[in-house]
Formats: sequence, structure tokens, C-alpha cells
Amino acid sequence: MSGRVLLAAPRSFCAGVDRAIEIVEKLLDQHGPPIYVRHHIVHNDHVVRRLEELGAVFVDDEEEVPQGAICVLSAHGVAPAVRDNCERRGLRVVDAVCPLVSKVHAEARRYADSGHLVALVGHHDHVEVIGTKGERPDQIVVVESPEEAERLDTNGKPLAVISQTTLSLDDVASTVDVLESRFGDLRRPGADDICYATQNRQDAVKEIVSMGATLILVIGSPTSSNAQRLVEVARARGAEATLIDDENAIGDDLLDGHETVGLTAGASTPEELVQAVLARLADSGYDEREDVTVAREDVHFRLPREVAAR
Ligand code: SF4
Repeated sequence: MSGRVLLAAPRSFCAGVDRAIEIVEKLLDQHGPPIYVRHHIVHNDHVVRRLEELGAVFVDDEEEVPQGAICVLSAHGVAPAVRDNCERRGLRVVDAVCPLVSKVHAEARRYADSGHLVALVGHHDHVEVIGTKGERPDQIVVVESPEEAERLDTNGKPLAVISQTTLSLDDVASTVDVLESRFGDLRRPGADDICYATQNRQDAVKEIVSMGATLILVIGSPTSSNAQRLVEVARARGAEATLIDDENAIGDDLLDGHETVGLTAGASTPEELVQAVLARLADSGYDEREDVTVAREDVHFRLPREVAAR
């Protein structure tokens, strides 16, 4: 069968992921292995395996890092208690937390310290949300859905709303709508917490669906929140959509009945995987390709002092 591929842009690495990976690579270069990283540096299995081969050691807890060793904090952010524990244990912390996640942490502190109850729209078990809630555990409540927003009890406190950076814009809007209808005006940050990269990748998926792609392939790992949301956004627009790890997931039955396939990749997915999937699609007869670009990204975050100065 001959078919067409609509290739979404922007896709793949965002500035926060780029920075986090570069930090680990530079530390390996400057100090040699092992370099300890608390949590997977970004949520992509291919990235993690490659860095492991170079000598990075990923741990779930800072307690697993030998005293005095370098401990990189992943892009998703941590609670202050984790930083305190690192300090107590004499670890040399290098901060690979995305500055856009740090911005949400700052909002959480500001709202909580000015007497607000803070509704944090996000997934209870996501590592970013656990880190943000840890800023003020008693004054921050995680709200995952409109149903949970219906049940929220503020005990008469004024309400502020922040969100995880990698959610679906539409899902956040429906949860915030419920909060607004129940509690009136809410304190909210001037700019959305959902980051530019999440927003652009979702916009690009909407565009390729509207251009006729009936199956959307999203390259990413199951742990990647923003990749999972791209699947949901595509489905909500009426396309079939599936998350694939790499080109090996492409079988003819997956493509059956789809003349136009859309392709994108989550913010933690390397572009090499996109090229490998494109090649596999071409082998399967999808050799006509159209690039669909909805935004240009030129965001770049500076490296932390400990890494950049050397
Ligand atoms: Fe930062 Fe957004 Fe990338 Fe997350 S997805 S690392 S918040 S730029």
C-alpha cells in the first residue's frame, strides 16, 4: 500500500530536556563515571540506556548515592526535603530541573505563603507533581480531574490554581472551569504553567489530525506524561492514536486501513527515533512525506554554573 506521512513540528526534545541531558553528558566528560542521577533524567528509556552506557547511574532515592558524590536532580524537580537530605548527606547537587518547573515551584510557595489553598492540577503519582506539592505539603492539594474539583473543600480559604507543566490544555481547562464555577475568581499565574513545548506539540497534533491523518503515532516511553497527552489529544480529535517506543513497534497490522499517518514525538524523545520510524514507514509504503510546522522554537536554557564554568 502507498501512503502519506504528516510529520508534526515541533516534536522531540524541548529546551528543558536538552539541558538536562547535556548536564549529565558534561559531568561524565568532566569527572568521569559514575555520575549519579536521582530519578530518570528525562522520561525516555532510550535516553536513559544511552547515558547508562556512558556511566550514569540512575537511583530512585538520594540515599543510594555515596556520600560526597555528585547527585544530579532530574528535569522534573524535587521537593525541598530532597534537597535538604542531599545537603545533610554531603552530596554535590547539580540541578538539572527544568526552569519552567522551578517557576511552578515558586508560584506554589508564593500562593501558599500568602494564605491561599493551592490547587495543583496534575497527576497524583507523577514525579513532577510530587516535587511541587512537597514545597508546601499542607497547603497544596492535587486535583486530577473535574470530578476531584467538584469534591474539593477549601475550608473557606482563598483558592489559587497552578498546574503540572505537561498536561493537556483542554483537560486543565475543564478542571479549572469547575473550580471557577464553585469558588469564583481564582488566583492564577499570569502565564500558563503548561509549558511552551507541551502546548506546541499538542497544537501540531491537532493540526495533523485536521489535515486528514487517521492514525497518529506518538514516539515516547509510557512514563512520559507529555507523550501520553499527545495520544489523548489525537484521540479527542477523532483519530486513532498509539504510543510507540521506536520503529520496532511498526507492523503492517498497525497501519492497516490508514492512508494518511501522522507522526510526532514527545518532548523527551530523541529525533533519531523519529528518523528511524520514518524509514520504517517508508519501507511499508508510506513514502510521501509532508512536514507540518505550527510553531518555531528557539528557547534555550543556560547550563548551571558547576557545569558551564569548566
Ligand atoms: Fe521543561 Fe516543558 Fe520540557 Fe518539561 S516539557 S522539561 S517543563 S520545557
